[in-house]
Amino acid sequence: MKLYDYLVVGSGLFGATFAYEAAKRGKRVKVIEKRDHIAGNIYTKEVDGIQVHQYGAHIFHTSNKEIWDYVNHFADFNRYTNSPIANYNGEIYNMPFNMNTFNKMWGVQTPAEAQAKIDEQRQEMAGKEPTNLEEQAISLIGRDIYEKLVKGYTEKQWGQKATDLPAFIIRRLPVRLTYDNNYFNDTYQGIPIGGYTQIVEKMLASDLIDVETGVDFFDKKNEYLKQYPKIIFTGMIDQFFDYQLGELEYRSLRFETEEINVDNYQGNAVVNYTDAKTPFTRVIEHKHFEFGKGDKDKTVVTKEYPQAWHRGDEPYYPVNNSINNGLYKKYQKLSESVPNVVFGGRLGQYRYYDMHQVIHAALVTVSQEFNEK
Ligand code: FAD
Repeated sequence: MKLYDYLVVGSGLFGATFAYEAAKRGKRVKVIEKRDHIAGNIYTKEVDGIQVHQYGAHIFHTSNKEIWDYVNHFADFNRYTNSPIANYNGEIYNMPFNMNTFNKMWGVQTPAEAQAKIDEQRQEMAGKEPTNLEEQAISLIGRDIYEKLVKGYTEKQWGQKATDLPAFIIRRLPVRLTYDNNYFNDTYQGIPIGGYTQIVEKMLASDLIDVETGVDFFDKKNEYLKQYPKIIFTGMIDQFFDYQLGELEYRSLRFETEEINVDNYQGNAVVNYTDAKTPFTRVIEHKHFEFGKGDKDKTVVTKEYPQAWHRGDEPYYPVNNSINNGLYKKYQKLSESVPNVVFGGRLGQYRYYDMHQVIHAALVTVSQEFNEK
């Protein structure tokens, strides 16, 4: 058998960044991936000349210049700016909440008029301590925006009534008193021209890296533990320990993707459906991430349905409430019993990471692993 320095479990951004950096330092790396393709949740695939984001819309954004330069090393990025719109029973609003939203909602035109309207609406909760998400949202933004743009979407996302959800889920609701529909406040933002998969392909291209897809770590866990001097594990930490302390909780998603024979289906990449009746939360029209690139008479759209997670489902979002975070801490402690395994990424560290954050986290692991500052 070939000798490797590392086994990396999972070919998402964390695993790929680690493998790339280790190979750069002359280490031999084996990467195994249980899906039949590399790149984890950032995987994109070309359909009708359109890069389709297979696991949900991914927009790269960061204010960290180092990470922006790093990722630009693997792909050229376009100037895409995330400006989702909300559809509430056929009424269209701009997101995030900004002067365009307030003008449509109340007819106000100046920042002072908008602020006065928000303050008037928030009066409903004056002097009261919010006890649930609904009260928290009203105390921050008032009832009109809560009812039309927050309530239905949030209830679908969590599968619970807003009055049963804890207030802390919404710590703040960003309000922008300018006519600016740019969702993110970050300095850098864009979509890789030609899709995300190429980034991971290039990261894993070294002769020192071997990649095998369709291989589940748990099929040969004990063998791998004996065979490899060091393992970088980016799967679920509770599954690694056979759920012995209990199950961590996740939210899952179901994606329904279809090709439609029109050039332009919804006029925007991301449309949020904020009413309670529509069962999906978002519709993504992929070609708009690349300004209409692809076949002229075809488009690809994906509807996103939030779902409860059960063992065997894709665990998309960790549910970071105090119970789950407490349980994760116990698993973290237990991980000290396997010093040759490093747990990384959104499933190994049980936290939501944006792409720039997961690259940063992987680079921190690299510098720890190789004792570099
Ligand atoms: P993953 O990409 O999940 O990679 C882990 C890999 O490990 C997977 O390929 C998995 O199959 C594999 N694996 C797991 N268990 C095993 C096993 N037992 N054996 C072998 N392989 C295994 N970030 C942004 O910056 N902008 C966005 O717009 C954005 N949108 C998102 C939308 C959605 C719906 C989701 C879910 C996430 C979004 N993200 C976004 C976050 C982004 O997807 C993550 O930052 C990134 O994918 C995390 O990389 P990772 O390597 O930790 O995990």
